[in-house]
Amino acid sequence: MSEEHYESTLPDPRPKLSTVCPSCEGSGQIVEPALALLGNVGRTVHHLRPCPWCKESGYLPGLQPLA
Ligand SMILES: [Zn+2]
Repeated sequence: MSEEHYESTLPDPRPKLSTVCPSCEGSGQIVEPALALLGNVGRTVHHLRPCPWCKESGYLPGLQPLA
């Protein structure tokens, strides 16, 4: 009968409450894939759009960090 030993190598958990916008990860812009036709070949292009969640601030409004 052996006892298994699990080492805890996980990093510290991040705080769940973050002011960084989870949609754009703080960049203020989101990448939106779109289908474009080049000739007869459909290709996926990526458009950068202003993040509608944080309004390009990269942070969610109304959620302020407590010092
Ligand atoms: Zn955002």
